[in-house]
Amino acid sequence: MSRIAYVNGRYLPHSDAAIHIEDRGFQFADGVYEVCEVRDGLIIDLTRHLDRLDRSLRELRMASPMAREPLKLVIREVLRRNRVRNGLFYLQVTRGVARRDHYFPAAGTLPTLTITAKSVDPQPARARYETGIKVITVPENRWDRVDIKTVGLLPNVLVKQQAKDAGAQDAIFVDTAGKVTEAASSNVWIVSADGVLVTRPAEHGILRGVTRTTVLDVAASLSVPVEEREFTVEEMLAAREVFLTSATGSCVPVVAVDGRTIANGHPGSVAAALRGAFLHIAEKTPI
Ligand code: PLP
Repeated sequence: MSRIAYVNGRYLPHSDAAIHIEDRGFQFADGVYEVCEVRDGLIIDLTRHLDRLDRSLRELRMASPMAREPLKLVIREVLRRNRVRNGLFYLQVTRGVARRDHYFPAAGTLPTLTITAKSVDPQPARARYETGIKVITVPENRWDRVDIKTVGLLPNVLVKQQAKDAGAQDAIFVDTAGKVTEAASSNVWIVSADGVLVTRPAEHGILRGVTRTTVLDVAASLSVPVEEREFTVEEMLAAREVFLTSATGSCVPVVAVDGRTIANGHPGSVAAALRGAFLHIAEKTPI
């Protein structure tokens, strides 16, 4: 079965789906995106993802391509046409097509909307939950609006490759004060020596992950104590557990940071408990 992509009102074979060469997403990374997980035919946390999309668009003074309800219909249609039961959809909105010029294009320029979907075998993710992953730390070098989910991901791409080259799977950004911000495509959590779940406040320096928000709800439902505060690399190295959250992998345990083993080198029980309860708490929208 061939994959189908949605591009500006049309459902196209994936191999024919394309955007204009002067699309501002391509020319300037002048665009935003969302990624949403699908599990057993249910879209996870769709409302929170679409709320964040609206916020990203507002922050960049970018027009919305479509009202919420028709957008949901298109998302579900893309998932149906690609027969996704377990997998993801990606949605990108850019400031549209215009002759190359840094100034915003003329009012009325239509935003570009693309949506793609793919099936993902859940087995490798499960294996990662069992073994955990290794990460490296890298200096934070991104702009200070990482709270907006833009398609400008070059620093994230570079550090992820750096991690791979170093035999690790992910990279964690550290700010000039030695505090952890976030990973290349996920938020970072630790469980402190006294059993408190700690994650950086989402006010500055990180993307407010949808999974992060829902994991906070899950922690409350399980009566796990939580502190939203900054933490240092030293604190992370001394933690009982370290894990990452994102829509593509809820609570992925980290077992080594910069070659140093975390706790006993095995995934911890708090991440497992949060992961286990996650789907009960998250919003689930049938395709
Ligand atoms: N931080 C960054 C930089 C990300 O790219 C992502 C997800 O792509 C996240 C955090 C986690 O966000 P979410 O849980 O909404 O997927």
